[in-house]
Amino acid sequence: MDAKPRRIGAYEVSILHDGVFEAPLDVLIHASGEAARDEAIARWGKPKVSIVVNCFVLKGADGITLVDAGTGPSWGAAMGHVPAAMAAAGIAPEDVARVLITHLHGDHALGLFDGDCARFPHAEIIVPEADFGFFGDEANRAATPERKQGGFAIAASLKKHYAGRIRSLSGEAHPGITLVPLPGHTFGHSGYLIQGDGESLLLWGDAVHLSDLQASVPEIGFVYDFDAATALASRRAMLERAEREGWLVCGGHIEGFRRVLRKGAGYELAPA
Ligand SMILES: [Zn+2]
Repeated sequence: MDAKPRRIGAYEVSILHDGVFEAPLDVLIHASGEAARDEAIARWGKPKVSIVVNCFVLKGADGITLVDAGTGPSWGAAMGHVPAAMAAAGIAPEDVARVLITHLHGDHALGLFDGDCARFPHAEIIVPEADFGFFGDEANRAATPERKQGGFAIAASLKKHYAGRIRSLSGEAHPGITLVPLPGHTFGHSGYLIQGDGESLLLWGDAVHLSDLQASVPEIGFVYDFDAATALASRRAMLERAEREGWLVCGGHIEGFRRVLRKGAGYELAPA
């Protein structure tokens, strides 16, 4: 487990590190086009995209809750370390009572499966209604570009291996945990806001992938964004609200807990 666990209301929240995802710079896009993209990347100065892959464990009186589940074994040796991190923390797959999924992408949801089985034999799987509805309907596949189609197979695997244990929803996901729609990266992409005893933590999934680029330049998106303009609107509104409310934040690709601070015309994600 990484970083110090945080007590948020009824839960002790820890970051589980699944690994590191790397990609060439051409996965990045900019709302204003090529030139703006190249300029932002040049100022950023990094030779490639290199981001952590996280999920989260919440320990509470109502058992073990996960937020996302990592990649599982299928994304290569640099990822798939969540089962070992859980074992090191003394958590068995049987102990997991529920898994809250931010969106149906492989680096967040494939860890629900162990080969052709459910990894978590007793867990309820909580999925944003809009994502499960979209990816659960094969009729939407034809209108979806090929590199954005991964969610269909994941939705099908969920239905097969977690039948009767899937709850797709909007609003309150579990006592003290509210689903926050952040659409755009996928159709129903959502964060989870954990609140209690005067502290709030937003786990924002993939609303920001690059902590040192997209907070200051939120117009930067990823080619994997289902609808980049909607993702940008979600990212802007979320950063503004997290700053105003003073929330702790983290996400699927953010290192450690952060707070959103204003910086110039944009924001920075300060270690908290
Ligand atoms: Zn992701």
